[in-house]
Amino acid sequence: MTDTRKQFDVVVLGAGVVGVTTAYWAQQAGLSVVVVDRQPDTGLETSYANGGQVAVSHAEPWANPAAPQKILKWLFDREAPLLFRPRLDWTQWWWIAAFLTNCTPRRTADNIAKLVRLGLESRDLLQDIRQRETLEYDQRTAGILHFYRNAREFEAALHTADIMRRHGCQLEIIDQDRLTDIDPAFVHCKKSVVGGTYSAADESGDAFKFTRALARVCESRTVKFLFGSEAVALHRDPAGKRILGVEIASPDGFRTLSGRDVVVCLGSYSAPFLRPYGIRLNIYPAKGYSVTIPTDSSHSCPTTSLTDDEHKLVYSNLGDRLRVAGTAELSGYGRQIDYRRCDRIVENVRGLFPMAGDFNKAQFWAGLRPATPSNLPYLGATVYDNLWLNTGHGTLGWTLAPGNAKRVVKLITDRL
Ligand SMILES: Cc1cc2nc3c(=O)[nH]c(=O)nc-3n(C[C@H](O)[C@H](O)[C@H](O)COP(=O)(O)OP(=O)(O)OC[C@H]3O[C@@H](n4cnc5c(N)ncnc54)[C@H](O)[C@@H]3O)c2cc1C
Repeated sequence: MTDTRKQFDVVVLGAGVVGVTTAYWAQQAGLSVVVVDRQPDTGLETSYANGGQVAVSHAEPWANPAAPQKILKWLFDREAPLLFRPRLDWTQWWWIAAFLTNCTPRRTADNIAKLVRLGLESRDLLQDIRQRETLEYDQRTAGILHFYRNAREFEAALHTADIMRRHGCQLEIIDQDRLTDIDPAFVHCKKSVVGGTYSAADESGDAFKFTRALARVCESRTVKFLFGSEAVALHRDPAGKRILGVEIASPDGFRTLSGRDVVVCLGSYSAPFLRPYGIRLNIYPAKGYSVTIPTDSSHSCPTTSLTDDEHKLVYSNLGDRLRVAGTAELSGYGRQIDYRRCDRIVENVRGLFPMAGDFNKAQFWAGLRPATPSNLPYLGATVYDNLWLNTGHGTLGWTLAPGNAKRVVKLITDRL
């Protein structure tokens, strides 16, 4: 076993979008930082091919008053947007129970308010980082349009939109005619849409490209990245108050990394990693799929980022690709792709936008959202003085990463 003697100010565990933004703000605060990830580079797990939306307007959590009835209806439908596969696993049942308690109108409104606040702060900081570091990641600042084909769903969405507006998320209610002003790609399907909401200040972009580009900025400013390195254990002091080191396994063997502070950004794996140390995080993996369709100027592809709430699908135009992502499966940590579910996504897109791209060359991907029952992440302190959490971002990790990372770094520096 080797001992890595250099003591860093901050050890960040995980190099997804959340870990890399944490490293960035820590470095900006003048701290020495090392980032550890088991993958060969940054952003290769859930931050790899997500829906691309930076969506304050997507603040309504899955846990809402309409959810229990919908989930019951979908229980036996293999192709339902939200799929629950019961397992003999107490962590799954604990999650479901807490999910149900978050479905009351009051809890939902509370969670929306908190997510809108975090989202607004984060979107501003994303713009700040982008300008400061001149990052390119196929970003688009054309807003996000939520559209509805079912009048009842649209009516329910207006109530949610009202709550979001009250907390500062600017939303315009739109009709069929306004739809094509915002995105001409709706010209052939606008009759099937009953209405929508439009958030002009929301954005989209490739979270993976952003994560990579920001990591390169961090590296150029002395942040150290250890790839192919799995965090396997935490060493505690005898009093159980502080973390003395993180044990890392890599092809070169084992070593212990020490940091004055340690931040856990391990996505869905944060919960099993921390459980042996008495920290119980209610994070369960919610598998989702994305389909990436090549597109060029000969196609008629939506240019605005879109959300089809009823089918739980989001669309982002990433330059020469249309990314469509969504659906959720609560079925454990497996990442295998169910091609029927992906085909269903393709059918859905083709039905609305038949000329959007080259559907025959669509690429499929599955990722595990680190979902909490409320959709609110875990941010901040733990029972150990120098161990911090920035994890559990569920459906909104790309949206919330820049802001949440800055919040956690501030908590750390405020203690110095
Ligand atoms: C289909 C789908 C669509 C989505 N669409 C959107 C969207 O449009 N907008 C949005 O805001 N969010 C979206 N999300 C959510 C978003 O992608 C996630 O919330 C976000 O990527 C989580 O980032 P993370 O850094 O916490 O996790 P990850 O990106 O998974 O990073 C965790 C890192 O930890 C590493 N790791 C894990 N365990 C260990 C260990 N023991 N040792 C070392 N390294 C370890 C992993 O290798 C990984 O790199 C979507 C997610 C999915 C699945």
